[in-house]
Amino acid sequence: MALRVFNTLTRRKEDFTPREPARVGMYVCGPTVYNYIHVGNARTYLSFDVIYRYLKYGGHDVVYVRNITDVEDKIINKAKEEGVEPAEIAERFTRAFHEDAKGLGLAKPTVEPKATEHIREMISIIKRLIEKDLAYAVDGDVYFEVTKFPGYGKLANRTLEDMRAGERVDVDPRKRHPMDFALWKSSKPGEPHWDSPWGTGRPGWHIECSAMSEKYLGMGFDIHGGGQDLIFPHHENEIAQSEGASAGGSFVKYWLHGGMVNIGEEKMAKSLGNVILVRDLLAEHGKDVLRLLALSTHYRSPIDFGPDKIKEATAAYDRVVNAVRRIERRLDSTTASSFGENPQAVNALSSASRRAREEFGAAMDDDFNTAAALASIFELVKEINMFLEGHDAALSMEARDALEDARGVLFELTGALGLEIKLPEEEDVEDLLPEAVYTLAAEVLKADVVGASKRELIDQVLALREVARSKKDWVTADFIRKGLVDMGIEIEDTPAGPEWRIRGK
Ligand SMILES: [Zn+2]
Repeated sequence: MALRVFNTLTRRKEDFTPREPARVGMYVCGPTVYNYIHVGNARTYLSFDVIYRYLKYGGHDVVYVRNITDVEDKIINKAKEEGVEPAEIAERFTRAFHEDAKGLGLAKPTVEPKATEHIREMISIIKRLIEKDLAYAVDGDVYFEVTKFPGYGKLANRTLEDMRAGERVDVDPRKRHPMDFALWKSSKPGEPHWDSPWGTGRPGWHIECSAMSEKYLGMGFDIHGGGQDLIFPHHENEIAQSEGASAGGSFVKYWLHGGMVNIGEEKMAKSLGNVILVRDLLAEHGKDVLRLLALSTHYRSPIDFGPDKIKEATAAYDRVVNAVRRIERRLDSTTASSFGENPQAVNALSSASRRAREEFGAAMDDDFNTAAALASIFELVKEINMFLEGHDAALSMEARDALEDARGVLFELTGALGLEIKLPEEEDVEDLLPEAVYTLAAEVLKADVVGASKRELIDQVLALREVARSKKDWVTADFIRKGLVDMGIEIEDTPAGPEWRIRGK
C-alpha cells in the first residue's frame, strides 16, 4: 500500500505523490520563543518528527524546515514585563527550546531558519504583493488586502462573510477590509526594527513563514504542518501571501494539522491553569514514555496527557523493554541445542515478526496511524512472550534465529517511531541495586557476602527460593520474595526459572 495523507485543504485522504519523487519538502511552523514549550507544542513537534522519520524510513529524501520565530508581539511583551531587550528573551527561549527538543529526541531539521535573519526576503515578498496590488501601505504599516485574493478562506473552509460574523467592533479604520492583516508593522520606540521602503518597522508573523519556506523549499512544496490552531488565520494567510506573490501555482500540496491536547477531561489552556511544561514531564518520565503516549493517539485527534495516560504509556513502554530483556537473557543463558525443539512455535514466531512489519507499514501508510502501528508492535511483544513462556530453556539454531529476528524487528519498528529501547547496562544495574541486597543475602544465604556482586547475590537468593519452593518451604520462599519486592525488585516466574528486574527500569 502506498502512503495516503489527510489533506486539510481538500478535507480528504489523498495518495502522497511528492512533486519530485526523490526529494520531499516539508515545512513545520516552529516555536515563537517567548516561553518554555508546553505539552501541546511538544505534541505537534513529536507528530511531525514521526512523520519526518517515517518518510525517511520509506526511502524518501526529506528537506525538513522548522523555523524559529524570534520577532513577534509575544516576545516584545515578555521583554517589557521583565524590563530586558527582546533579543535576550528570544535567545534565552531558543536555547530552552533546543534543550527540550533534544530531551524529546526530536530529529534535527535540515534547516532551522530564524525569522530575524530573513527580513530581506520578507521585504521582497511584501514589495511583490504591493506591486500586484494585493497589499497597501498606511502610515508605515503594510496590510494584505484579503478581498483581492480570490482563494482567501480556502484552507479554513470559510468565506469572508463567515469571518465577519465573529468580527469585533473596534476595527482599525485604516484597513480596507476588517480581515486585512499586517505584513509589516511600524515599530514603536524600544521595539526591534529594520529599515524598509515603508519606514522602520518589523514583519508580521505570517510573512515570516512565507519567506522562510520559499527560501529553503521554493515556491510550491509538498508538506506544510502545524497544530490545528494555526489553520486560521496563520496558514490561511501564508497561502494568500505566497500564492499572491508568485506567478501562479499552489503554495503547498498537502496541509497536515495535528490535534490539540487535553489534561484529563479538560482542554489544556492558560486560562484553566493546567498548562504542563515539557521539561517538567521529561524530568519525571523520560522521553520514551512521552513519545509513546503521543503516538498512542492518531496525530489529528485530540489527546489526553493526564496522569492516567502517562501511567498507561509507562506500562506499555516497560512491556517492550521487558520483551527485549527476556529475549536477551534467553539468548545468553542457553547453548544451541535441538533438544526440545518445537518447529511450530518457531514458525509462529517468525511469521509474527513478518506480520508485525507489514501491519506497521500498512498502519503508517494510512495517514500515519501511529496508534495502529503501535498495536502491531505490541502484538509482536505478545507473540514473543508466548514463545518464551512455551519454550524449553534449550534453544535450537532456528529458535535462536527467530528470536534474534523478532528482536531486530522490535528495534527497527520502534526506531522508525523514534523510540529507544533502553536496557540498563549490567554495571548500571549494579549501581541501581540497593545496599539492602547484602542484608537480605547474608541472612538468607547464611554466608559472608561482603564484596560480592549484588546481581549475583540476587540470583543466588532466587535459586535458594526455588529450592525452598520445591520443598514446599513457603515461609522461606515468601520471606525471600517479600524481601526483594520491598526493596523495589520485581520477580517474574517463568517456565525457565525466575526473572527479576528493578521496578521501573
Ligand atoms: Zn508558520
